Amino acid sequence: MHSHMERILWNQDQISLRVSELAAQIRADFNASSPPPVVVGVATGAFLFLADLVRRIDLPITVDFVRVESYGSGTESNARPTISFDLKLDINARHVILVEDIVDTGHTLSRVIAHLKSKGASSVSVCTFLDKPSRRKVRFQLVGEGKFYRGFECPDYFVVGYGMDFAELYRNLPYIGVLKPEHYKRSYIS
Ligand code: 5GP
Ligand code: MG
Ligand code: MG
Repeated sequence: MHSHMERILWNQDQISLRVSELAAQIRADFNASSPPPVVVGVATGAFLFLADLVRRIDLPITVDFVRVESYGSGTESNARPTISFDLKLDINARHVILVEDIVDTGHTLSRVIAHLKSKGASSVSVCTFLDKPSRRKVRFQLVGEGKFYRGFECPDYFVVGYGMDFAELYRNLPYIGVLKPEHYKRSYIS
Protein backbone atom coordinates (compact mmCIF):
# COMPACT_ATOMS: atom_id res chain seq x y z
CA MET A 1 0.00 0.00 0.00
CA HIS A 2 1.21 3.50 -0.90
CA SER A 3 2.47 5.28 2.23
CA HIS A 4 0.03 8.18 1.74
CA MET A 5 -2.99 5.88 2.03
CA GLU A 6 -5.10 5.66 5.15
CA ARG A 7 -7.23 2.80 3.89
CA ILE A 8 -8.15 0.91 0.79
CA LEU A 9 -11.82 0.63 -0.12
CA TRP A 10 -11.54 -1.67 -3.16
CA ASN A 11 -8.44 -3.61 -4.13
CA GLN A 12 -7.32 -4.73 -7.59
CA ASP A 13 -9.07 -8.09 -7.45
CA GLN A 14 -12.38 -6.60 -6.33
CA ILE A 15 -12.16 -3.96 -9.06
CA SER A 16 -11.33 -6.52 -11.71
CA LEU A 17 -14.23 -8.76 -10.79
CA ARG A 18 -16.71 -5.92 -10.80
CA VAL A 19 -15.48 -4.52 -14.11
CA SER A 20 -16.00 -7.94 -15.69
CA GLU A 21 -19.56 -8.05 -14.38
CA LEU A 22 -20.32 -4.58 -15.77
CA ALA A 23 -18.82 -5.50 -19.13
CA ALA A 24 -20.97 -8.64 -19.28
CA GLN A 25 -24.12 -6.59 -18.57
CA ILE A 26 -23.23 -4.04 -21.22
CA ARG A 27 -22.44 -6.75 -23.71
CA ALA A 28 -25.82 -8.37 -23.12
CA ASP A 29 -27.68 -5.04 -23.38
CA PHE A 30 -25.91 -3.79 -26.53
CA ASN A 31 -25.48 -7.08 -28.35
CA ALA A 32 -28.06 -6.21 -30.98
CA SER A 33 -27.09 -2.56 -31.29
CA SER A 34 -26.40 -1.43 -34.83
CA PRO A 35 -24.46 0.73 -35.50
CA PRO A 36 -22.15 -0.20 -32.62
CA PRO A 37 -22.40 1.88 -29.45
CA VAL A 38 -20.01 4.76 -28.84
CA VAL A 39 -18.23 4.58 -25.50
CA VAL A 40 -17.43 8.12 -24.33
CA GLY A 41 -15.01 8.53 -21.44
CA VAL A 42 -14.82 11.63 -19.29
CA ALA A 43 -11.13 12.50 -19.16
CA THR A 44 -9.02 12.24 -17.19
CA GLY A 45 -10.56 10.31 -14.33
CA ALA A 46 -12.27 7.57 -16.36
CA PHE A 47 -9.21 6.50 -18.34
CA LEU A 48 -8.28 3.35 -16.40
CA PHE A 49 -11.84 2.19 -15.87
CA LEU A 50 -12.64 2.74 -19.54
CA ALA A 51 -9.52 0.88 -20.65
CA ASP A 52 -10.35 -2.11 -18.45
CA LEU A 53 -14.03 -2.06 -19.34
CA VAL A 54 -13.78 -1.89 -23.13
CA ARG A 55 -11.24 -4.71 -23.26
CA ARG A 56 -13.90 -6.93 -21.74
CA ILE A 57 -16.83 -5.85 -23.91
CA ASP A 58 -16.69 -8.40 -26.66
CA LEU A 59 -18.59 -6.35 -29.24
CA PRO A 60 -17.68 -3.87 -31.95
CA ILE A 61 -17.62 -0.46 -30.27
CA THR A 62 -16.09 2.94 -30.90
CA VAL A 63 -14.35 5.03 -28.26
CA ASP A 64 -14.03 8.76 -27.75
CA PHE A 65 -13.41 11.22 -24.93
CA VAL A 66 -14.65 14.53 -23.63
CA ARG A 67 -12.91 16.65 -21.06
CA VAL A 68 -14.85 18.52 -18.42
CA GLU A 69 -13.46 21.04 -16.00
CA SER A 70 -15.29 20.60 -12.73
CA TYR A 71 -13.08 20.24 -9.69
CA GLY A 72 -9.80 22.08 -10.17
CA SER A 73 -7.21 20.62 -7.85
CA GLY A 74 -9.20 20.55 -4.61
CA THR A 75 -11.95 18.37 -3.26
CA GLU A 76 -14.77 20.87 -3.72
CA SER A 77 -17.42 20.47 -6.34
CA ASN A 78 -18.21 23.01 -9.03
CA ALA A 79 -21.83 23.63 -9.91
CA ARG A 80 -21.03 24.87 -13.43
CA PRO A 81 -18.71 22.43 -15.16
CA THR A 82 -17.67 23.27 -18.71
CA ILE A 83 -16.77 21.03 -21.64
CA SER A 84 -13.20 22.00 -22.45
CA PHE A 85 -12.44 19.32 -25.03
CA ASP A 86 -15.09 17.89 -27.30
CA LEU A 87 -15.76 14.63 -29.12
CA LYS A 88 -14.03 13.77 -32.35
CA LEU A 89 -16.76 11.36 -33.49
CA ASP A 90 -20.19 12.26 -34.80
CA ILE A 91 -22.66 10.74 -32.35
CA ASN A 92 -25.82 11.77 -34.17
CA ALA A 93 -28.34 8.87 -34.02
CA ARG A 94 -25.83 6.72 -32.07
CA HIS A 95 -26.21 4.91 -28.78
CA VAL A 96 -23.73 6.42 -26.34
CA ILE A 97 -22.35 4.80 -23.20
CA LEU A 98 -20.90 7.54 -21.04
CA VAL A 99 -18.11 6.26 -18.78
CA GLU A 100 -17.30 8.13 -15.57
CA ASP A 101 -15.00 7.51 -12.63
CA ILE A 102 -17.45 8.75 -9.98
CA VAL A 103 -20.74 10.59 -9.68
CA ASP A 104 -20.84 12.92 -6.71
CA THR A 105 -23.16 15.97 -6.85
CA GLY A 106 -24.27 14.99 -10.36
CA HIS A 107 -23.41 18.35 -11.93
CA THR A 108 -20.73 16.95 -14.23
CA LEU A 109 -22.88 14.08 -15.45
CA SER A 110 -25.90 16.33 -16.09
CA ARG A 111 -23.73 18.69 -18.09
CA VAL A 112 -22.21 15.95 -20.23
CA ILE A 113 -25.52 14.17 -20.80
CA ALA A 114 -27.10 17.45 -21.99
CA HIS A 115 -24.15 17.94 -24.32
CA LEU A 116 -24.43 14.43 -25.82
CA LYS A 117 -28.16 14.86 -26.22
CA SER A 118 -27.68 18.16 -28.03
CA LYS A 119 -25.35 16.36 -30.45
CA GLY A 120 -28.16 14.00 -31.40
CA ALA A 121 -27.37 10.80 -29.49
CA SER A 122 -30.36 8.47 -29.80
CA SER A 123 -29.71 7.15 -26.30
CA VAL A 124 -27.29 7.96 -23.51
CA SER A 125 -26.45 5.30 -20.93
CA VAL A 126 -24.12 5.93 -18.02
CA CYS A 127 -21.54 3.55 -16.64
CA THR A 128 -19.82 4.99 -13.58
CA PHE A 129 -17.32 3.05 -11.55
CA LEU A 130 -18.34 4.71 -8.28
CA ASP A 131 -21.50 6.43 -7.18
CA LYS A 132 -22.00 8.61 -4.10
CA PRO A 133 -25.81 8.97 -4.05
CA SER A 134 -25.76 10.58 -0.60
CA ARG A 135 -24.01 13.62 -2.11
CA ARG A 136 -26.37 14.17 -5.02
CA LYS A 137 -27.51 17.74 -5.66
CA VAL A 138 -28.94 17.37 -9.15
CA ARG A 139 -30.72 14.41 -10.64
CA PHE A 140 -29.37 13.39 -13.99
CA GLN A 141 -31.68 12.02 -16.66
CA LEU A 142 -30.68 9.33 -19.10
CA VAL A 143 -31.60 9.83 -22.76
CA GLY A 144 -33.94 7.54 -24.70
CA GLU A 145 -33.61 3.91 -23.65
CA GLY A 146 -30.37 4.64 -21.80
CA LYS A 147 -29.41 2.44 -18.85
CA PHE A 148 -27.48 3.15 -15.66
CA TYR A 149 -24.60 0.93 -14.57
CA ARG A 150 -22.44 1.45 -11.53
CA GLY A 151 -19.53 -0.45 -10.07
CA PHE A 152 -19.92 0.32 -6.39
CA GLU A 153 -21.76 2.68 -4.10
CA CYS A 154 -19.08 4.80 -2.47
CA PRO A 155 -19.26 6.11 1.10
CA ASP A 156 -18.83 9.84 1.58
CA TYR A 157 -15.02 10.02 1.42
CA PHE A 158 -12.88 11.84 -1.11
CA VAL A 159 -11.27 8.83 -2.76
CA VAL A 160 -8.24 8.50 -5.02
CA GLY A 161 -6.75 5.87 -7.31
CA TYR A 162 -7.89 3.88 -10.34
CA GLY A 163 -7.91 7.08 -12.40
CA MET A 164 -9.00 9.45 -9.67
CA ASP A 165 -6.71 12.18 -8.38
CA PHE A 166 -6.03 14.58 -5.65
CA ALA A 167 -4.08 17.55 -7.06
CA GLU A 168 -3.42 15.41 -10.18
CA LEU A 169 -1.62 12.73 -8.16
CA TYR A 170 -2.54 9.11 -7.37
CA ARG A 171 -4.39 8.41 -10.63
CA ASN A 172 -2.06 5.51 -11.39
CA LEU A 173 -2.77 3.56 -8.20
CA PRO A 174 -4.43 0.27 -9.16
CA TYR A 175 -6.84 0.37 -6.21
CA ILE A 176 -9.24 2.90 -4.65
CA GLY A 177 -8.52 4.36 -1.27
CA VAL A 178 -8.61 7.30 1.09
CA LEU A 179 -5.54 9.43 1.78
CA LYS A 180 -4.22 10.21 5.23
CA PRO A 181 -5.57 13.66 6.21
CA GLU A 182 -2.17 15.35 5.95
CA HIS A 183 -1.99 14.49 2.25
CA TYR A 184 -5.21 16.33 1.43
CA LYS A 185 -3.61 19.54 2.68
CA ARG A 186 -0.86 20.02 0.21
CA SER A 187 -0.71 20.38 -3.51
CA TYR A 188 2.14 19.81 -5.96
CA ILE A 189 0.33 21.88 -8.54
CA SER A 190 -0.08 25.58 -7.94
P1 5GP B 1 -19.83 15.94 -9.54
O1 5GP B 1 -19.96 16.92 -10.65
O2 5GP B 1 -20.77 14.76 -9.66
O3 5GP B 1 -19.92 16.60 -8.20
O4 5GP B 1 -18.37 15.42 -9.57
C1 5GP B 1 -17.94 14.62 -10.57
C2 5GP B 1 -16.45 14.67 -10.75
O5 5GP B 1 -15.75 15.16 -9.59
C3 5GP B 1 -15.98 13.25 -10.94
O6 5GP B 1 -16.03 12.91 -12.28
C4 5GP B 1 -14.59 13.29 -10.37
O7 5GP B 1 -13.70 13.67 -11.39
C5 5GP B 1 -14.67 14.33 -9.28
N1 5GP B 1 -14.92 13.69 -7.96
C6 5GP B 1 -16.07 13.57 -7.28
N2 5GP B 1 -15.90 12.89 -6.13
C7 5GP B 1 -14.59 12.55 -6.09
C8 5GP B 1 -13.79 11.82 -5.17
O8 5GP B 1 -14.21 11.30 -4.12
N3 5GP B 1 -12.47 11.70 -5.49
C9 5GP B 1 -11.93 12.22 -6.63
N4 5GP B 1 -10.63 12.02 -6.83
N5 5GP B 1 -12.66 12.91 -7.52
C10 5GP B 1 -13.97 13.06 -7.25
MG1 MG C 1 -14.84 12.28 -13.73
MG1 MG D 1 -10.12 15.48 -10.21
